[in-house]
Amino acid sequence: MSSQKNKKGKVIIIVAPSGSGKTTIANMLLEDIDRVKFSTSATTRSPREGEKNGREYFFLTDEEFYEKIQKKEFLEWEHYGKNRYGTLRSEVDKLVESGYFPLLDIEVKGALNVKQMYGSDCIAIFIKPPSMEELKRRLLNRESETEQQVQVRLEEARKELQYADEFDYVVVNDDLEEAYSQVKQIVTNFIS
Ligand code: ADP
Ligand code: 5GP
Repeated sequence: MSSQKNKKGKVIIIVAPSGSGKTTIANMLLEDIDRVKFSTSATTRSPREGEKNGREYFFLTDEEFYEKIQKKEFLEWEHYGKNRYGTLRSEVDKLVESGYFPLLDIEVKGALNVKQMYGSDCIAIFIKPPSMEELKRRLLNRESETEQQVQVRLEEARKELQYADEFDYVVVNDDLEEAYSQVKQIVTNFIS
């Protein structure tokens, strides 16, 4: 592995319909590659069990989120379901300045915006579920959303899947180890 620092400010985006396994794959990557660090986004959704403010997300009220929009603190932000999610400029800058490669786990529209801003200094990997049936099964198994919230996520997923080809790589997450090995190879090539 090269010891070069991330002076240019390259970013890595993992994008996928909710339930495809992108958090699982992102966490494997973060454990495996020291120079890749998670960029914590802000959201107005409530924390899930085990989630900690400032780690998975900065959990904000609608008013706090709105204030950050006004102050232009977001690189990008989007609505997702009934909530808002945004990438904080301060998080990305802090990581880049420390020589790390920020890893963004964001939805499709935000990912396309960041890709446009960063051009070749960004790599965007789309994680695809093997099928809609399997996606539904994973979302229900995760037990972090109600059946109704799962329906909303499946509707978003149908829309998001149409954009897969807009990204640099598409990896199907059927067998987790196989999918992870592909993602690791792509990221290793990008950062070395
Ligand atoms: P996302 O971040 O895309 O919403 P998660 O990483 O939370 O998705 O994964 C959704 C659920 O599917 C989790 O319970 C996770 O353990 C499971 N999962 C992830 N990858 C696979 C896989 N390849 N096969 C089976 N289950 C998986
Ligand atoms: P979840 O509620 O499952 O954590 O996230 C819902 C969706 O919001 C996921 O697709 C996730 O990747 C996306 N998301 C998380 N943070 C951001 C962000 O900062 N910006 C955008 N555009 N999407 C985000």
